[in-house]
Amino acid sequence: MALQNGNTKKLDIVIVGGGLVGSLEAIYLAKRGHHVSLYEYREDLRKTPHVRGRSINLALSVRGRKALKGVGVEDHMVNEHGIPMRARMIHRPDGTTYPIPYDARTNQCIYSVGRNYLNNILLKESEKYDNVKKYFNHKLLKANLQNGSLTFLKTDTKETVDVTTDLIIGADGAFSAVRKEMMKQPLFDFSQQYIEHGYLELCIPASEDGGFLMPPNYLHIWPRGTFMMIALPNQDCSWTVTLFMPFKNFKDIDTEEKLLSFFKQYFPDSITLIGEKKLIQDFFGGSPSPLVTVKCRPYNVNDKALIIGDAAHAVVPFYGQGMNAGFEDCSILDELFQKHQDDVPKIFKEFSETRWKDCFAISDLAMYNYIEMRDLVTRPSYLIRKTMDDF
Ligand code: FAD
Repeated sequence: MALQNGNTKKLDIVIVGGGLVGSLEAIYLAKRGHHVSLYEYREDLRKTPHVRGRSINLALSVRGRKALKGVGVEDHMVNEHGIPMRARMIHRPDGTTYPIPYDARTNQCIYSVGRNYLNNILLKESEKYDNVKKYFNHKLLKANLQNGSLTFLKTDTKETVDVTTDLIIGADGAFSAVRKEMMKQPLFDFSQQYIEHGYLELCIPASEDGGFLMPPNYLHIWPRGTFMMIALPNQDCSWTVTLFMPFKNFKDIDTEEKLLSFFKQYFPDSITLIGEKKLIQDFFGGSPSPLVTVKCRPYNVNDKALIIGDAAHAVVPFYGQGMNAGFEDCSILDELFQKHQDDVPKIFKEFSETRWKDCFAISDLAMYNYIEMRDLVTRPSYLIRKTMDDF
């Protein structure tokens, strides 16, 4: 692979977290010729089946696409893998539906992509670079963000491994261990909020002849005021259905009869699609997961450590922008590496001083969009204006 910026000093960089954002950042830094070590808590997901609990598919939008384009995988993800969703398809309680286009004027859309598939593609792409080393089953235990030292636990052998590096990039998700270390720094602001609602994933299978049971090019929504259900299409013609609801309501549904009567009342058209038996199995086979928002700043410690992705700005998923914003971190950082010719103090300073405003804004928008999706989407616009004023 041709490397950019062949003349500058090449840095040793440890990325903690080989999820969506960490694996993309590894490619960007490798393209610039730096020596990247990617440490990931889990096993190599290319060798393990999907574990239930995290969203199976995600909406990829223009910010994420731009970042993927920068490492040459956008075309594949959008044109070969992604399923375009051109409108929201609203399901009324009586089972009738109507579409609300995302962009009727220029026909832009978002794409449903598989989480594991995308992560796989990024990890595979990183293999094209000799200067990326990957260490799976490595959990960060502690780090000194002033001198660049880290201690990992090898989860298979239970040994500890000490590493020292020029730069630490924390891409280790909403409960980031790198961010925990940053919290020991003076003047580090941090806030975290769990919302009262959780989510549970269900599934509409493919039809018997292997096709989609609902029109595929839509993000389907069943808005019900204080709660909602959504469905995104999968490449095997099944649908990942996500029920968002207060934890209290989940708890109240504690028998099969209550579950079926709840679905008959609020989501009647979904019962035949999911199937009664599968609905019962999936609902009682899992437990609702929490949703957390994290706001913090600054994102760096001197010129030694930086956090990106959910580690820096976890948001609730209602705007479909968490991953997209994390991917945008990677393309912005790459632009800054280019602008400042790999001068890390300048890059980290500018990223930290400018990026937080957009991250705080998308966090607030995502929180607001839950009310939009579960409720306002069904109301006349004058009422929406009033509710937005109240928000
Ligand atoms: P993560 O995906 O959490 O990856 C972090 C990685 O770090 C993991 O692999 C983890 O194993 C590893 N790790 C953690 N701790 C350690 C440690 N101590 N040592 C080493 N490794 C560690 N976003 C969108 O843009 N569009 C959507 O449609 C969308 N839908 C969503 C639906 C739901 C229900 C949820 C919950 C989220 C959704 N998101 C969506 C948000 C998206 O999932 C996240 O923003 C995205 O996964 C963030 O990527 P990340 O790499 O920063 O963090």
